[in-house]
Amino acid sequence: MKVTVLVGGVGGARFLLGVKAALGLPAVGPGESGHEITAVVNVGDDIWLHGLRICPDLDTCMYTLGGGIDSERGWGRAGESWAVRDELMAYEADPTWFGLGDRDVATHLVRSRMLRAGYPLSQVTEALCHRWQPGVRLLPVTDDRVETHVVIDNPDPGPEAPPQIAVHFQEWWVRHQAKPEAQRFASVGAETAKVLPEAAAAIADADVVLVAPSNPVVSIGTLIQVPGVPQALVGTKAKIIGLSPIVGGRPLRGMADACLTAIGVETSAEAVGRHYGGRGEGGLLDGWLVHTGDTAEVPGAETRAVPLLMTDVEATAEMARAAFALAGVTP
Ligand code: GDP
Ligand code: CA
Repeated sequence: MKVTVLVGGVGGARFLLGVKAALGLPAVGPGESGHEITAVVNVGDDIWLHGLRICPDLDTCMYTLGGGIDSERGWGRAGESWAVRDELMAYEADPTWFGLGDRDVATHLVRSRMLRAGYPLSQVTEALCHRWQPGVRLLPVTDDRVETHVVIDNPDPGPEAPPQIAVHFQEWWVRHQAKPEAQRFASVGAETAKVLPEAAAAIADADVVLVAPSNPVVSIGTLIQVPGVPQALVGTKAKIIGLSPIVGGRPLRGMADACLTAIGVETSAEAVGRHYGGRGEGGLLDGWLVHTGDTAEVPGAETRAVPLLMTDVEATAEMARAAFALAGVTP
């Protein structure tokens, strides 16, 4: 069976562990099952810092599935040390708000060198995955630069200063902890970007497409707007099943509510389902899974309530099985 999953970072990576397990693969590392899992990964959080290309969502997926993640933190390498960060601080090298771990730096050095040599991000990712063997084909949704920027009120207003400024998503999220209210999000580069052909094909040729319980705005929202993705989603014969990242009216980790509020969507499983829309009504979803106890009516999509807490691999595998069942496919 061909399973294609649209993912962001932590929520997406954890969900992929369960998808692998549900298909009889080891959650971490490579394996043989006769099934093919492709993850189409958001690149909107990517950023150049200190001359290095950082791809948070790709790396979170790669490290999680390859056994290198710091699972406590949810991002970055296990057993990390911070000498490079401390040295950068000693130089007061901007930006000082982004912690680059020493082990992580090696990944960014390899990636940045390859990018500068002219390799596209998809090939660079493939090369990095040679080491990590995630057991899932990790595809950036595009090789082009598509970066989420956030428009906020200027924290240093003055007579000459503009009333609003746009900052990179990472600056808003990591430095400001999503505290300054987001007025709107802008996907810089999205108009001219093109979907990675392999990613479009993975959506078009899938037996089932899953939308991970990732941030609906800055992970999934950014990804599904890349030109070529909407067409692939509309055209696929596969059922498209989403899983709610909102449980009991709250995101489970992180600050997705701040993103939803900015785009005028209530933080509830039903509101997110309606925001994606039912495919029968021209939206994204054939099916929408919400957590037990939550209710949702999404016109044009079938909804079902099942446990959606990714407490361990088996619980997460059950979520994937519920999605397969709703799609009417059997591995
Ligand atoms: P990020 O890019 O690292 O922020 O990660 P994602 O966008 O992939 O996922 C973030 C989302 O995962 C958040 O909105 C959380 O609500 C959601 N999430 C995290 N853990 C769980 C869980 O156990 N169950 C569900 N349903 N959602 C979760
Ligand atoms: Ca992310």
